[in-house]
Amino acid sequence: MPKIYDCVVLGIGPSGSTCATYLKRFNKEVLILSKDGGILSKSELFLDNLYGLSKISSKDLFSSNIKHLKELGIPFFYEELIDLETLENNIFKVITQSNEYLTKSIFLGLGINRTKPAFVKNDDLIGNGISFCASCDGFFYKNKTIGIYGDSEQAKHELSILENIASDILLFTKNKDLSNLKNNVRIINEPIVNLEVKDGLLNAVITKNNKYVLDCLFIADNFHSALTYKLGIEIDDNIIKVDNKKSTSVRGIYAGGDCIGPQYQIIKAACDGMEAAYSINEYLKYNDKK
Ligand SMILES: Cc1cc2nc3c(=O)[nH]c(=O)nc-3n(C[C@H](O)[C@H](O)[C@H](O)COP(=O)(O)OP(=O)(O)OC[C@H]3O[C@@H](n4cnc5c(N)ncnc54)[C@H](O)[C@@H]3O)c2cc1C
Repeated sequence: MPKIYDCVVLGIGPSGSTCATYLKRFNKEVLILSKDGGILSKSELFLDNLYGLSKISSKDLFSSNIKHLKELGIPFFYEELIDLETLENNIFKVITQSNEYLTKSIFLGLGINRTKPAFVKNDDLIGNGISFCASCDGFFYKNKTIGIYGDSEQAKHELSILENIASDILLFTKNKDLSNLKNNVRIINEPIVNLEVKDGLLNAVITKNNKYVLDCLFIADNFHSALTYKLGIEIDDNIIKVDNKKSTSVRGIYAGGDCIGPQYQIIKAACDGMEAAYSINEYLKYNDKK
């Protein structure tokens, strides 16, 4: 029987780490999975608005967080989330590029996607030739020509689904780590500058020098939309909607920090993580009793 965590926390930023810290204090089996250390570990920011701390570099703050998680015995792995599934009995399966984990609840602390593709100017195209989810919509494009846009592991994951469905795939990517591609996949290493629309449907992708006619473009670069679309979590303009308990519209899935909207601040993200942990603790009590 595979291990079932009480909560898998996605993201090791201030919201995720704080949520995990509180859950650990509530004696819950918690695991953090994160693509990387996020903005704080990557940028040399100087922070001067945190309680009790005068000017601190974001990298020092992040290192201190890692030390703290280790002291508390909270396991964390650097793995990129590529899919989530709902199983029976209120259990979720969390799928990364290298592993699968089972959990009773999930906290999404994925931060904000600051790179929404600029060429998606018209949201009406979503569902009309623009999709965020290969496993949801791929089947509608059986034997058609489709495009996939994205550089991340998620793009590879979407490709693995779509390569067996579509007849031709144009992969708009800068990812160099791609091998064993099927014959129906063509890599287009050209930035997309625009989309051509015909009768309300996507007709073609325009790059600087070319036009590629296709039936659907799958965006694998906008994680919130992809996941939330698939699981039915409500979002609004790329912001995950939560109630005052930090619960998303899907029972057992909570969210906090930048991915649920302003203010985009560390202290607010940490506060969201703490509030979610209290709610998750209550949820687990209720669920374990059933
Ligand atoms: C330039 C800049 C300066 C800033 N300065 C300040 C400041 O001075 N003071 C302040 O309070 N705030 C500042 N902020 C904002 C602050 O950094 C954020 O509000 C805070 O980091 C949000 O925390 P979070 O936990 O929501 O997300 P993040 O810290 O963004 O963490 C998100 C986590 O999710 C992970 N993740 C994302 N996608 C996946 C995936 N597919 N699979 C697995 N893991 C994934 C990332 O690896 C990361 O660990 C600044 C931000 C920027 C960009």
